[in-house]
Formats: sequence, structure tokens, C-alpha cells
Amino acid sequence: MSLRFYLLIIFLFNLALPLYAMPSIILENTKPTYTNFSVEIFEDTQNKDPTINEIQTATFRKNISNAFSLGYKIYPVWFRFSIYNQTQSSANMILEMTEMFHNVDLYTLSNQTITHEKNGLQVPIEQRTIQEINPSFLLHFTKGERKQIYIKLTSTYGFFGAFYLKTPNQFRKDTQVQNNLYIFYFGAIIVIALYNLFIYLYLKEKIYIYYVLYVISFALWASLYRGLLYNYIDLNTYNLLQISIPTFFIMLILFSQSALKTQKNFPYIHKLLNIFMILMGISFIWMLVSLHDGFYFMNIIVIPILPILLFLAIKASMHGYFIAKIYLLALLIYFVGMCMVTLLALGLFPYSLTVRNAPVLGSFFEVILFSLLLAYRINLLRQEKLQSQEKLLTQEHTEKSRLFHMVADKTMALKKAKERLEKELEKKKILEKYLKEQASTDSMTGLMNRRAFFDKATKELERCQRYHTALSCLIIDIDHFKKVNDSYGHHVGDIVIKFIAEEILKNTRHIDIVGRIGGEEFSIMMPDTDNEDAFHLGERIREKIEKRVIAFDDKVICVTVSIGLCSVNHKDTGTLQTILQQSDDALYQAKENGRNQIIEYK
Ligand code: GH3
Ligand code: MG
Ligand code: MG
Repeated sequence: MSLRFYLLIIFLFNLALPLYAMPSIILENTKPTYTNFSVEIFEDTQNKDPTINEIQTATFRKNISNAFSLGYKIYPVWFRFSIYNQTQSSANMILEMTEMFHNVDLYTLSNQTITHEKNGLQVPIEQRTIQEINPSFLLHFTKGERKQIYIKLTSTYGFFGAFYLKTPNQFRKDTQVQNNLYIFYFGAIIVIALYNLFIYLYLKEKIYIYYVLYVISFALWASLYRGLLYNYIDLNTYNLLQISIPTFFIMLILFSQSALKTQKNFPYIHKLLNIFMILMGISFIWMLVSLHDGFYFMNIIVIPILPILLFLAIKASMHGYFIAKIYLLALLIYFVGMCMVTLLALGLFPYSLTVRNAPVLGSFFEVILFSLLLAYRINLLRQEKLQSQEKLLTQEHTEKSRLFHMVADKTMALKKAKERLEKELEKKKILEKYLKEQASTDSMTGLMNRRAFFDKATKELERCQRYHTALSCLIIDIDHFKKVNDSYGHHVGDIVIKFIAEEILKNTRHIDIVGRIGGEEFSIMMPDTDNEDAFHLGERIREKIEKRVIAFDDKVICVTVSIGLCSVNHKDTGTLQTILQQSDDALYQAKENGRNQIIEYK
């Protein structure tokens, strides 16, 4: 056999070997997606970077799932499988790599032709055949064609992802659904951020702005992670935007400190978190200077932050704060998501779309729960405000009624005091009146006493002199009164005095001033009365007394009086003293003339 024949055999063998060993997808008319099949892998551990011809002879190991999770590798990994078009027509299919952050080299071998296409992080979207975020390749199959697929994957991230084979129609549908989901997802996040921004503008409470910045930096990170911005920004900006991660953590810490009131409740943890925030700030600046080193530094710092926050949340929950419980739940969901993706990146967790989206989903629930926490917090603040308002109202009410009662009591006390005072004043007035009367009245006869008579008579005299009217004055003295005393006793003398007083009063007007000015001496001052009228009045009194018989026990007494009269007209300017003296002179005359008569002073 010729060399040619041998070469042909070797070539065919080489061609056939993988054909029979390789896992294979058989295209069927009715099936639009192939998401569950086996692939073979070859790990280029020596970094030999074999060509496509060399790789065909390499020994591929183990059949693994098309959804793989291999951990971190510093060398390329090759995958291979074959696709056989069993249908009776030609077919177009799209091969999709579900993660955007790997470099993908696709080699297809069919009918002894080899095609090579690059895709993934190394190729800008506009340069790709299928301009989508996920590296995707269009494969054309003729009827009965078999393609061998060799894929070289290099990545600085964890080797995880999945290869899906779809009809173009199905691919478009799935991409549409995914895009719609992203629109909904980021729409919701923007709404939540705006909602809390408005609350911040209204309440001016720092916690809301922390939350808003947290949500925004989270959304930025999530869109970077999902490659959504890859289409619109260059690689430098893409890298620069990684600073959203330290921002995200700083805001998370600030938010947690505010929500759990760490400064007041957990001062030590509060200080520890402050230190981590400073370190995050350093990594932020470092990333601006040198992205790689700063990023590495930040990754180290991030590791203890979540456990510290979890510990804090558990402690706060145990204190019974409801807000801390919501916070703990949110953090746990986020933590689980993060753990899942970390395990996935390390190759310790099987790949699936759910696991791959776990941190995004977890963060989304966390963001929503944090928002609920803030809403609950508002409710709490409102309740506190209402309670304090109620307390204030009750206090005000109590104070008012206390004041009201106090005022009422005081008013009552004042009223009583006033009444008491009025009574006292009344009594005082009565007493004063009584005392005044006592002071001006002669107790035996009820007539004015000497002093009161003098006061009144003086005033009357002045009045008569002012108005130039007449005035007359009588002085009446009982005749031989000593004898009455001597004969009947002093008490009978008193009775006689009272009798004379009565008689005088009966015969005078109420404007006349009548007083007892001595032991058995009386005086009558008569305003507006001339000497004639006064004389008649005196005479009448004298007569009446003369005619009266005073009877007591079995005795009878008769007494007479002598009267001195003095009248003044408007020309006279004499004092009371003179008038009385003149009347007394006239009385003396009457006594001299034999008593029981009236004499006018001339
Ligand atoms: P005459 O006619 O000259 O007036 O003689 P008389 O006895 O009345 O003399 P006089 O007027 O000088 O005497 C007054 C007497 O009146 C003296 C005194 O004992 C008596 N007397 C004065 N005041 C009272 C009194 O209040 N009660 C009694 N019972 N006697 C009095
Ligand atoms: Mg006398
Ligand atoms: Mg006498």
C-alpha cells in the first residue's frame, strides 16, 4: 500500500475517531432548543496553545454537561461536541455561550473545511455576526451535514457557563424575553430609587439618600455584571465603572448603620464598620489610580464585611427590633445569592441560569425588602409622632383642667373672702354707727348729748348765717330739782328727767335740734324760727309739763320748768357760745322772776 493510502487511512481515522467518540447533538425538525447535552473537555494545563489541527489529536477527557462550572483556571479550556443535521432540509442554528465575560474561539470542522470565529469579551458587539451581549454564533447546516465543534475558552473569571443550541427564531424569542425581564428589573429599581429619593427630599433624612445611592450603585454593578452596558461604553469606562462596587458597599454600611442605629445600640461594631468604610474609600481611590490592584484590595476587604453585617443584624434581631429582622432577612437573601455565585465561580456548585442570576435576584429582593424596611420605618416614625402628639394633647388637657380647677378654686376662695370682708365691713359700719350714736346720744333720754348738740347746733348756726335765716334757741331747766331728788330719791329724779325729755320731743319738729346739755338742763335749737314762734313753742312745752302729773308707785309728782329764749336774725354774727350764754341769761331771769315761765333775752 502506498504512503498516500496510509495517509488517507490516518486522516480518516483521525476524522472518524472523534466522530464516534464525540458526544453528539442530532438536529430534529420539531426541536427548537438543545440545552441539555454532553461535551468533552481538554484543559491546556501547560498553556501550550495548540492549533486546531493539534487539538484534534489531543486526548479529551470525560463527558461533562453543556452547563459547566470548573472553577478558576489560568489556562484555556477546550470543549468539543458534534452536531448532526438529520433532517431532510438545510438548517440554521445559533450556538450561544450564556456568559459574556469569557473569550470564546469557535472552530467548526465540516467536510474537511475549518472555520474559525472569535467572540466574547475580546470582540466588540458591533463586530460580531450576531450582535448580542452573550457570545453567539450562526451555524448553517446542509441536509445531512455533521459539524464538529471545538471551542476554546479563556477567562480571567470563573469558568462557568453553558452552551445552548437554538433555532434563530427561538434565540430571538429568548433574547426578547430576557431583554424584557431586564427592562422590568431595572425599571423597578429606578422606580424604587426615585420613590426613596422623593422621600429623602421630603424628609431630609440621610438614610434615604444612602439607600438611593446604594440602589443606584447596585443597579450599575448589576448592569455591568450582566453586560448590559457593554454595548454602549468602551472598555476603559467599563473598567472605571467598577468603582460602583466600593460605592455600593460604603452605602450599604451607611444604610445599615442608620437602619440599625449602631452608633447608639452597638458602638463597637459601629466603629469597626467605620474602619471598613475608610478601607473601602481607600480601595475606591486606589481603583481610580490602578484598577487591578485597587480591585484586588477591595475584594479582600469585602470578605469580612458581610459576616460583620450579618452578625450585627442577628444581634439587633435578638434585641427584638422588627426593622432588624427585615434587615436580617434581606441580608440573608443577598448573602445566599452571593455565596451561590461564589461557589459557582469556584466550580463547587453546578451551573444553572438561576444560580448564575442568584446575586442579581438576591440583591433585587434585598433592595425591595430594604425599601419595605424604610416604609415600615416611616410608619414607625409616624406612630411615634402620633403618640407624642397624643401625649402632648393629654398633658395639655390635664394642664388646662388643672389650671381651670385652680382658677375656679381661687375664684371661689376670693368670692368667699370678699363676702367675709363685706360682712366684716357691714359689721364695722353697724358698729361704727352704733359707736357714733353712742358717742352722740345721751343714754338716759335718747336725746343728743352735750357734745353732739354743740356740733350740730354749730353747723346749723353757720347755715342760718350763710342763708340769712332766723334761728332761735331755748334752754329748759327743771325747777327745784334737787328737792325731787331729795324727796323721792335719785332714781325718781331720773324718771322725771326722762319724762321731761319725752315731753320736749313730742312738741318739737324733726328739724329742731334737741339735746340734754346738763344734768336736768335741755336745749332746743330751732332753725327758720323767729322769737315769736319760738316763744310760743317754749310756752306750750312749759304748759304741758306744768299740767302733767307724773305718777309712779302710789305717788304723784308735778314739776315745772323755766325757759330762757334767745333768737338771732340774719344780722347777728354771734357764736353758739354767745347764743347759749344769752339764752342762759334769759333762763336766769326766769328763775329770778319766780320760775315756771319763759323769758326772752333782750
Ligand atoms: P333751781 O330751780 O334753781 O334750778 O333749783 P334746783 O334744785 O333745780 O337747782 P339746780 O338746777 O342747780 O340743781 C340741779 C340738781 O339736779 C343737782 C343734782 O343733784 C340734780 N341732778 C343733776 N343731774 C341729775 C340726774 O341725772 N339725775 C338726778 N336724779 N338728779 C340730777
Ligand atoms: Mg339746773
Ligand atoms: Mg334746776
